[in-house]
Amino acid sequence: MTEVDLHVHTTASDGTMSPAEVVRYAKEKGLRAIAITDHDTIEGLHEGIGEGKKQGLEVIPGVELSVDFPKGTMHVLGYYIDPTCTGLLDELMVLQQARAERNLRMIEKLRGLGIEIELSELKETPEHGQIGRPHFAHTMVKKGYVQNIQDAFDRYLGKGGPAYVEKFRFSQEEAITIIHQAQGLAVLAHPFTLNRPDPADFGALIGELKEKGLDGMEVYNPEHSKGQKKFYRTLAQQHGLVATGGSDFHGLTKDAVDLGEGYGDTNYAYNVVEELKARREARLRGLS
Ligand SMILES: [Zn+2]
Ligand SMILES: [Zn+2]
Repeated sequence: MTEVDLHVHTTASDGTMSPAEVVRYAKEKGLRAIAITDHDTIEGLHEGIGEGKKQGLEVIPGVELSVDFPKGTMHVLGYYIDPTCTGLLDELMVLQQARAERNLRMIEKLRGLGIEIELSELKETPEHGQIGRPHFAHTMVKKGYVQNIQDAFDRYLGKGGPAYVEKFRFSQEEAITIIHQAQGLAVLAHPFTLNRPDPADFGALIGELKEKGLDGMEVYNPEHSKGQKKFYRTLAQQHGLVATGGSDFHGLTKDAVDLGEGYGDTNYAYNVVEELKARREARLRGLS
């Protein structure tokens, strides 16, 4: 049976459950360990780890960083990061500031298009997490500027749209280095979103990432087909990467994958946690 889920979001980013709620829910579901991996923030870790101690559930401190990657989406997970590392906190602050500035620029662009939105209105939407485009879309629907969320993205907010502002992202090297400096392990999340369908091309990319210091790859993800899992597992073995897995849980919303589920027929057991710990030990010894 599945014992671990190494990809979990909370209200600190765009999940619907607080860190403590997620931990209690994981315990209810019979898991032994989860990793809290919120987008660009570690604000949920303190609460999650505290609740984990109370519940007797291992909570791995994590983060999920967005990385600049043309024509695809690259997210890099950091596991066993030190939440007190000042270098990491500084870099996350840079992201927060960039996000705030981006929101102000989108407000300006929309104003230029005859759409009046105030920052305070964005804070009042039912969307979760840090303010971003979904909050804009909601507000635009509410104020009658667009028909629905999709309409807002299609006409204004989508990439290349008239109100779109490019998001600041770390480079691959930066993301991996930030995680390593915080004594963590860098793991490529949901590799299918890289959008590199050619196996040789994809393999070469993984080789490059390994050269840059990548420690693992999320082989088991609800979105991966059986064939993809097999392909990623083989590649992970070839490159000496830890094959991790997680549900990318965002809460119990309609059609969402439940915590600790979505690995198909794979028995996803605790030994991956042991493997990560051993890898971290080895990396820290190598650095010292
Ligand atoms: Zn992701
Ligand atoms: Zn995620």
